[in-house]
Amino acid sequence: MTSHFFSPVVQRLVPYIPGEQPKISNLVKLNTNENPYPPSPRVIAAITHAAQQGLQLYPDPESTALRQAIAAHHGLAEKHVFLGNGSDEVLAHAFFAFFQQGRPLLMPDISYSFYKVYCGLYGITAQTVPLADDMHLNVADYAQADSLSVAGVVMANPNAPTGIGLPLADIERLLQMHPHRVVLVDEAYVDFGGQSAVGLIGIYPNLLVVHTLSKSRSLAGLRIGYACAQAPLIEALERVKNSFNSYPLDRLAIAGGVAAFEDQAYFEQTCQAVMDSREGLVLALEDLGFVVLPSQANFVFARHPQQDAAGLAAGLRARGVLVRHFKLPRIDSYLRISVGTLEQCDQFIQALAELLASQP
Ligand code: PMP
Repeated sequence: MTSHFFSPVVQRLVPYIPGEQPKISNLVKLNTNENPYPPSPRVIAAITHAAQQGLQLYPDPESTALRQAIAAHHGLAEKHVFLGNGSDEVLAHAFFAFFQQGRPLLMPDISYSFYKVYCGLYGITAQTVPLADDMHLNVADYAQADSLSVAGVVMANPNAPTGIGLPLADIERLLQMHPHRVVLVDEAYVDFGGQSAVGLIGIYPNLLVVHTLSKSRSLAGLRIGYACAQAPLIEALERVKNSFNSYPLDRLAIAGGVAAFEDQAYFEQTCQAVMDSREGLVLALEDLGFVVLPSQANFVFARHPQQDAAGLAAGLRARGVLVRHFKLPRIDSYLRISVGTLEQCDQFIQALAELLASQP
């Protein structure tokens, strides 16, 4: 649909399409990389308490308590942390703040598809750099004769939807290749076995690391994301945020987020449980003839040499299991399967085995 009311930018916008959030319950939901475990009981208690305390008042526009909790967790000062309504909002502000340079932004050809959507929203040209045939990222491909000819670099580490992690030494090489451009490392999935670049922030003024509480902290429903960087990059993000929405985090999110960082034991235990499930899931998929990319995330990316992935996704859905299929070049033979509990993984594998057995 279009209308003469649409601005030229809106006419051209190609929005992101999130994975299905089904209205029916008791599906095995392995399609949007949520955590299969609920948040820490301390988070629920904190939100319940906050709900009884002053919801008629605006929240703290600076979300100071949560910024302090995050800074303490990473061993940083508060001025190195920026908060947003989910990391998608943090990413959007970062694209606006750093990449509208009238030059192309480098990113892997296979990556989080929202990056290109932000480019469309803010008039940024995306310059995609192909991953190798085995889906690994080769940092040398990001070298430019003149680094100032690009707007910057964005990538997810571990990458999405491949799950493949990049060693920190490679991130450092990227930062050194583009010292005058922001290198945005989206670490949405880093807590499931990846190497975080947050420790490099003191060394590299061009590094922006983005995290979310949606995955490893089981809080996709609360919408909290954050960025860590040196003070000037945080100041730029604050300027954008304060020109857009003074209160991106509500009172419940601030209270719940603080409590999530207070329960380190629960965080470690649930991340470990997801990683343990992942190991079994990979082996079971391989037993069924799938090729599975090495994952450091809470999902696996797998293809079957003889089976059509879209058909498998549809067949699984008919059996009550949701997984994600992307109808995109290079990856349309893959399924992305979020790691569930052991029980959910078993249900998925059973449905898949039945489906494969029923195929001609
Ligand atoms: N980055 C990546 C790589 C993701 O896969 C996602 C989840 N779709 C996000 C960021 C956004 O997560 P959220 O907005 O829930 O923090």
